[in-house]
Amino acid sequence: MKKTVLSFLIMLMMPLFAASEGHKPIIGVSATESSPASAPSTYINAVKRAGGVPIVIPITSDSTQIAAILEVVDGIVMTGGADIDPLKYLGEEPVRALGEITPLRDEFDIMLIRMAVRKGLPLFGICRGEQILNVAFGGSLYQDIPSQAGAYIKHNQDAPGSYGTHSITIEKNSLLRSLLGKESVAVNSFHHQAVKEPAPGFKVTAKSKDGIVEAIEMEGTDKVWGTQFHPESFVNAGDDFFLPLFRHLIEKAKEYRAEKRQK
Ligand code: MN
Repeated sequence: MKKTVLSFLIMLMMPLFAASEGHKPIIGVSATESSPASAPSTYINAVKRAGGVPIVIPITSDSTQIAAILEVVDGIVMTGGADIDPLKYLGEEPVRALGEITPLRDEFDIMLIRMAVRKGLPLFGICRGEQILNVAFGGSLYQDIPSQAGAYIKHNQDAPGSYGTHSITIEKNSLLRSLLGKESVAVNSFHHQAVKEPAPGFKVTAKSKDGIVEAIEMEGTDKVWGTQFHPESFVNAGDDFFLPLFRHLIEKAKEYRAEKRQK
């Protein structure tokens, strides 16, 4: 009789175990300046397609809001967007070719990145997300690559987002190389700013033919990195070549989740 009751209880509890073990990792996606708070569906869809559950993190300057959200998520995607305030974050006067800046978002992005990385969360920065990852850790940017970096390649393509228009060369012994398995790939390009000097503790892992930085990685870890190009646009359009970047984020998020549960 006792045995029957016990096995009945175990049977009742099995779905609970299954739910916690098989839980898909939750990926926080940083919101853009839009109202209502949102992130482009390309990022949302890429996270879903890689096996994650996306939630949008609204812009805030309140660190307690961010801290609470970081208790819930298992990984972070920093999205693309406007230019970064050069006076405040680079100590430079704005050049005439500087585009729109979004001061609240700058503050939010930097706080979110620093807090997430300090906590050990995996983080993938895309376009502006890659640039501000670099700035958050003390790296510099070109405010405008055509006028400041001598970029002769068109980095603001007039072509669909799911179409690669310029090539990049990927460093050996990099996360990007190991995930994509190629030295040279074609990427999309929607930027006029770029990383100048990588932050201390970061390395450049891909460049375009005109020397513009197209990817950075934090050294000594495989869970903090960024790309200047937009892999989510390809994935969203059904082209899975760059899907391994999101799959990797999901794998790292699963590891983070498992470690968190053990504590
Ligand atoms: Mn580019």
